[in-house]
Amino acid sequence: MRRSLAFLLVGGLLGGAAVYVLGPRIGGRSGDRRQEESPGTTPTKAVPADTPADFEPAGGGRGVIALVLDDLGNGEPAIVRAGQLPGPIALAVLPDAPASGSAAALARRKGWDLLVHLPLRAESGASRPDAISSADTEQEIVEAIGRAIERLPGAIGVNNHQGSAAMADRRVVRTLLQTVRDRHLFFLDSRTTPARIAEEEARSLGAPLLVRDVFLDADGEAGMAAAWERARKLALRKGSAIVIAHPHTETLDFLARELPRLETQGLRLVKISELVD
Ligand SMILES: [Zn+2]
Repeated sequence: MRRSLAFLLVGGLLGGAAVYVLGPRIGGRSGDRRQEESPGTTPTKAVPADTPADFEPAGGGRGVIALVLDDLGNGEPAIVRAGQLPGPIALAVLPDAPASGSAAALARRKGWDLLVHLPLRAESGASRPDAISSADTEQEIVEAIGRAIERLPGAIGVNNHQGSAAMADRRVVRTLLQTVRDRHLFFLDSRTTPARIAEEEARSLGAPLLVRDVFLDADGEAGMAAAWERARKLALRKGSAIVIAHPHTETLDFLARELPRLETQGLRLVKISELVD
């Protein structure tokens, strides 16, 4: 990963293009986790007219998908199954989970990207006890992020676990993006709230930001197929799509079947760090 996204974001015109191109297009549906991690359908945003004519999507004109497997570290079976998938896949690991070390080791062994899956406070329902919230001071937020990063050596980015409340709080988001930037990592907004604060703040801070496009949730074959098709179409249309999935058995089964088909569909998997450029 190069740090040039920060430069692009600071750089005005190209920064706008980067954010728009990597911006969210598709939300999820309601439901337990989905309710937290999918804020609902968001309007499709057209690529702005001032996009440079010679802007080339990642992958040399071929559509690419960056797949992130969230919530890893709670148990070994999901880690074993993740390791059997064709990669590259980014592994987003809960820093304080019992098997987080094993998940991080898998990422290192495979040469895959490792993300710190940072717990942030949700609007409703149970948040993890260590979730960062609006009640925390800036110093507490900085320290909590530092502890999380230090538990996962080799992590190249951070994304939010839940966080529909905290990610709608401008002070929290600003502190978060500043801290991640200062650690020379990038932030992937999982988009658990319709608020676009992270995009606004990343722009003004010059902080490297990626934004989730599609959640691939365990909502049955038809639901997963529809979400996957949205991701594929998006990748073909704009060059790349960022997909977040959770390590449920049915989702892992689905991915084991679909990932090997990407090549023949004119698509390929890339490391998410390749999109930070
Ligand atoms: Zn999560």
